[in-house]
Amino acid sequence: MSNNQTAETVLRKDDLIVVGGAGGFIGGNLVKRFHEQGFTRIRAVDKKPLPQWYQRVPGVESLCLDLSEYPNCVRAVAGAAEVYNLAADMGGMGFIERNRVECLRSILINTHMVEASYQAGVQRFFFSSSACAYNITLQQDPNVRALKESDAYPAMAERGYGWEKLMSEIFCQEYWAERGLETHIARFHNVYGPFGTWDGGREKAPAAISRKVITAKDLGKHEIIIWGDGTQTRSFMYIDDCTCGIDMIMHCDELIATPINLGSSELISVDRLVSLAEEIGRVKLEREYDLTAPRGVAGRNSDNTFIKQVLGWEPATPFHDGLAKTYAWIEKQYCARKAGQHTVS
Ligand code: NAD
Repeated sequence: MSNNQTAETVLRKDDLIVVGGAGGFIGGNLVKRFHEQGFTRIRAVDKKPLPQWYQRVPGVESLCLDLSEYPNCVRAVAGAAEVYNLAADMGGMGFIERNRVECLRSILINTHMVEASYQAGVQRFFFSSSACAYNITLQQDPNVRALKESDAYPAMAERGYGWEKLMSEIFCQEYWAERGLETHIARFHNVYGPFGTWDGGREKAPAAISRKVITAKDLGKHEIIIWGDGTQTRSFMYIDDCTCGIDMIMHCDELIATPINLGSSELISVDRLVSLAEEIGRVKLEREYDLTAPRGVAGRNSDNTFIKQVLGWEPATPFHDGLAKTYAWIEKQYCARKAGQHTVS
């Protein structure tokens, strides 16, 4: 088999696909992708009440279940050919630095989902890991060396969230080694795009900065408050690259139980992100730096050598293009909220 298999080339259109965390950003977009490809049996699961889901795709079975409870996982994965677990209690830096216990408790979701999937005899299980699983001592400089897969060990992951991801990766690896459940693991680097969290405390930098620029313009303010000193660097992956990468990683035989980076390798500083958002919004603001706010590691980038070698592909949407689409979507949300209409997050 070639390495570029996808759900469309591997599954029948009536095979059951289950997506955990489907009321959230990436899960919701993944459901939309499979639906658009013509899959007729998709089960979307999230603990949020249905009206709070970021996207509800017509014709998709949508269940409100808490996947940290084992019986709910059994119900969620019954009859599935493939399970994608995107459910986790998570958010941007402000959330994960202040809610380490909640982040760690996502281990219940993953341990129960992987066991229920094994018991149900599913063909493939996908786990969404994170760049926060990498050793933090390698991320202390804004001009970082990009992180390659082997940099997770010796382990010194980000407290709370990162350790949970690393431990869940190990579960996936041992369910394959010991029990033969085919698992696939991607380490996402910051994902952004439409239908993501843009307000409320869990949003990440591209959405937060876009919202701040939009708000300043609307209210006629001339300042923007930036968390940290603006020098922190990250790479940001556009959502369509993320869902495409998940699909390819899940169906690649060389990537069974093998964690792989799924991220852009375009390094962007927070100051540059603000400049791009200002350019898109056609405005210039005075920058105030809040040095007491959470800022995370100094720098982080994705080394894409492995993914290019194994898939001949990497996430390549230029940040400026993805940010323009995200900004436009947030602006619409902002206006809808002002008009008293229902919005995402
Ligand atoms: P999100 O918060 O938008 O979506 C996660 C969803 O999981 C939410 O809708 C939430 O209600 C649901 N959830 C939480 N606990 C649950 C439970 N007990 N049972 C059922 N559902 C539950 O986040 P996202 O950005 O879509 O992230 C999806 C996955 O990707 C997560 O595992 C996250 O850790 C991982 N990840 C995301 C990023 C990113 O930049 N967005 C980066 C690295 C890793």
